[in-house]
Amino acid sequence: MTQSVSPARRSNFLTDIIDADLAAGRHTKVVTRFPPEPNGYLHIGHSKSILLNFGLAEQYHGVCHLRMDDTNPVAEDIDYVRSIQHDVEWLGGKWDGEVRFASDYFPRMYELAERLVQEGKAYVDSQDVEEMRKNRGDFGRHGVNSQYRERSIAENLDLLRRMKAGEFADGSHVLRAKIDMTHPNILMRDPLIYRIRHAHHHRSGDTWCIYPMYDYAHPLEDAIEGITHSICTLEFETNRELYDWFLDQTGPWQTRPRQYEFARLALGYTVMSKRKLLQLVQDKRVSGWDDPRMPTVAGMRRRGVTPEALRDFADRIGVAKNNSLVDIGKLEFSIRQDLEKQCPRALAVLKPLTVTLTNWPDDMVQQLDLPWWPNDQSKGTRKVPFSKHLYIDRDDFSADPPADWRRLAVGREVRLQGAYFVRCDGVERNPQGEVTGLRCSVDLHSRGGEAQDGRQPAATLHWVDARHSLAAEVRLYDRLFSVELPDGEGDFLQHLNSDSLQLVQARIEPALAEGPERVQFVRVGYFFRDAKDSQPGAPVWNQTISLKDSWTKTAQPARGAKAKAAAPATQPAAPATDWAALVAGNPILQALQTRYNLEVSALGRLAHDPARLAFFAAAVEVASDGPLTLRLVQNDLAGALAGAAISSLPFDAKAFGRVVADIAAGKLSPGSAKQLLPAWVKRGGDADSLVAELGLGAGVQGDALSEALANVLHAHAAEVARYRQGEIKLLAVLLGILMRQAKGCDPQAARSALLAQLQS
Ligand code: ATP
Ligand code: MG
Repeated sequence: MTQSVSPARRSNFLTDIIDADLAAGRHTKVVTRFPPEPNGYLHIGHSKSILLNFGLAEQYHGVCHLRMDDTNPVAEDIDYVRSIQHDVEWLGGKWDGEVRFASDYFPRMYELAERLVQEGKAYVDSQDVEEMRKNRGDFGRHGVNSQYRERSIAENLDLLRRMKAGEFADGSHVLRAKIDMTHPNILMRDPLIYRIRHAHHHRSGDTWCIYPMYDYAHPLEDAIEGITHSICTLEFETNRELYDWFLDQTGPWQTRPRQYEFARLALGYTVMSKRKLLQLVQDKRVSGWDDPRMPTVAGMRRRGVTPEALRDFADRIGVAKNNSLVDIGKLEFSIRQDLEKQCPRALAVLKPLTVTLTNWPDDMVQQLDLPWWPNDQSKGTRKVPFSKHLYIDRDDFSADPPADWRRLAVGREVRLQGAYFVRCDGVERNPQGEVTGLRCSVDLHSRGGEAQDGRQPAATLHWVDARHSLAAEVRLYDRLFSVELPDGEGDFLQHLNSDSLQLVQARIEPALAEGPERVQFVRVGYFFRDAKDSQPGAPVWNQTISLKDSWTKTAQPARGAKAKAAAPATQPAAPATDWAALVAGNPILQALQTRYNLEVSALGRLAHDPARLAFFAAAVEVASDGPLTLRLVQNDLAGALAGAAISSLPFDAKAFGRVVADIAAGKLSPGSAKQLLPAWVKRGGDADSLVAELGLGAGVQGDALSEALANVLHAHAAEVARYRQGEIKLLAVLLGILMRQAKGCDPQAARSALLAQLQS
């Protein structure tokens, strides 16, 4: 990549901070980082962060690190690591040195944790999850000290070492910082440092069975690498206090990093959470992470979007300190503007209609020399064949032209671009009366598209030769979602646009067999050859974006598929509520959002109904899975209520929260919740009995457990063999894997079944 991420000097609140730091001598060199978690492909929001971090480093002649934040063993994958590197490179990010991995710092992080214990600043807590949550309090209620908080240093150290040695099961102990259970910032109430997780890590393998929490790991990663400015998104604002606490307690550090927050990018008509993008991939709603409709960097690249366009977009939206929803029209503008500069012009007809030139000699083929760039022969030309049989686009002809029709109709003349003037003399129809072909006569003296008498037809059409053009599959894309805020209400999948992909059997000019891979199909849009699906002789072209051309404004009554695909380009986006501002302006919403990791737009919508908000707040306290609770309240419960007030429910929010917790734990499937809620709303009473009565319980037992067990034994035969040779600590590892596969099964049953197999 020769292009740099930062062509021009920019200024924003971050450059102000850096300028001040440099001026005061706090730093002499700027070191930033981009720290993705390798649990998915990068999306356009990440590209904003990449361009910002690499751009700042470049602007100040510093360096930027690429660091895989791989502290969570589950869901991370080497394929994601590769895709991330590729995407960052493609965007022009040049990282300093090798790619870094947070997992490489595990030994150092652990050492520092022992130090915290030794200094009396951390302790091993053995409360169960439920107790711990209860005792943490909330924003209106102080926390309560754990009964284990006053363990001696020696006991804490011993327990921590045994946690590390794999002596305990997942969830039995955690290491916590000893800060203050009455701290107004809930995150400061003795936050978790390490938890036990018997899981295989894609890099460190089975070396570790305790893994550091984000809030502990991230500042240490930054400090170990000597990061000066650690830039993250706004939802981490409340974590900053903890970031500083950990660094202050583990220092002194040669370079003391500081965290700064900026607004994350949210775009209309799309979703950006990796979890949701993964769901689209897994449910096969799209062809993969690189489906051209996806907001991923890989998807946009395959669609034909350029890194320059993304940079221009990032510059335009700038770096702000308040979240807002960006109009997708801004992105489309940047893309179009860049492609206008980058794309040579070519001819393609998406809906071919045959034209026969009655006065053209049967066997004559002319090779017209047309420039790739309009009015500029110097940038190269290509041969475009022209003969008696041609195609024009079906929508450029009208059998019954409206008054303002300018294109082809019987008795009218048009220019075929770069070729000749033709006049339509008559049409051919099939037995159903549909037009199947046009009979035209050509002005043989108008070669090159200029008539000798200087007359000017009202329209210039694109065309291709019928016999010499090539068949091509053209993919027209529309927005993936049909509403601006797909995460706003209910299940986001409901809002998928069923017409987001249209396949068209088109005809393209022969020079495209080997010509440029990125072109403007004249009068149609910008297209990019699909490298993945194109076969020799069977090319596939992706529409990057439609043209914003005057022709899209003139009447295109029968444009059909194309008009649909072109529409988003010109349609103004519906005005968006600034959910972020609404949430930011309300401390209660803000606290809920931070604590439960909620989408601002969804939370904002919920907040319109204070009764529902209160119900949600009480339910989520019990359920603890914020996004799931929110979805169930807004969607399933609202559906079951059918317009009735939430205060009329025959059960309380806490009981509802317990059902949500069961769904989160896999004890009840989301599908059965849909059956349960209407019945429960009608009849009230105890949810568990109703679940039993309706036969909805979904726990993994019996056959499902044996099946999962068989899978685990098969997939981990090596570990099984090692266990049998005496490495008994692998029991916990295998049990962890089994518990994850047989989600919702009884741990005791799983353990005995596993042991029975291992010892047989
Ligand atoms: P998700 O919540 O979808 O999993 P994430 O934020 O957890 O995304 P990370 O891999 O942790 O994803 O993100 C890497 C970096 O990219 C972080 O520094 C994060 O702040 C930044 N980032 C992620 N999403 C956005 C966004 N929408 N806008 C700007 N920066 C973002
Ligand atoms: Mg993250």
